Amino acid sequence: MGTLSVVATPIGNLEDITLRALRTLKECDVIYAEDTRVISKLLARYEIQKPLQRLDAATEAAKAGEVIERLQAGEHVAYVSDAGTPGISDPGTRLVAVVREQLPEAVIEAIPGASALTAALSIAGIDTSAFTFLGFLPHKKGRQTALKEVAESTIPVVLYESPHRIEKLLQELQTLTIARVVIARELTKVHEEIISGTVAEVQAHFAAHPDTIRGEFVVLVEP
Ligand code: SAM
Repeated sequence: MGTLSVVATPIGNLEDITLRALRTLKECDVIYAEDTRVISKLLARYEIQKPLQRLDAATEAAKAGEVIERLQAGEHVAYVSDAGTPGISDPGTRLVAVVREQLPEAVIEAIPGASALTAALSIAGIDTSAFTFLGFLPHKKGRQTALKEVAESTIPVVLYESPHRIEKLLQELQTLTIARVVIARELTKVHEEIISGTVAEVQAHFAAHPDTIRGEFVVLVEP
């Protein structure tokens, strides 16, 4: 019976990958990736050449059967998403669930590493003894309910947001009597930045520096 390794990859800085992750990617028989072009850059950086297969959110359920056949044949399959830890606001969860259900004897191992969630929490300077992770808020249906959950939370809430929607999210938070927010932008990259303050202060920052409304954002909402 084969092994499925769920491998965390960098969230920006290509040096943020563990020795075990590199060994796994070197030793496995095949790498299934959310986007083969994205992972090719990482593999090229570490001179790893492996057969690559695409397994993204749209194909996750369908391709799981293919992975199961490989595991039954004793292969070592690695799964990587575009960045960070698979399954954290990324594909991978359904693949693991299907393999666990249909092939309980297969080994499923985590190769832990970077995640924007833990990276942001580690430098936000807020109490992280307990927090809620909501990932991306729903765009339409359920958004108001989720925002209400954010507003009423007694522990920090961590959100993921894209640059296209960060201003809209801040506008919504402004109406919710949120005390403070911490925005972790472009973590591990050249333009890494932490912006914190009241929602109005953070909005003023973005208004004064519109060039910083780009890249990737983790939003931490303090209760
Ligand atoms: N699986 C990833 C992880 O473990 O963090 C998350 C993937 S999710 C599709 C992408 C979102 O994660 C981005 O929109 C952003 O909210 C957050 N993110 C990813 N990389 C980031 C970075 N370098 N800095 C800040 N946020 C980041």
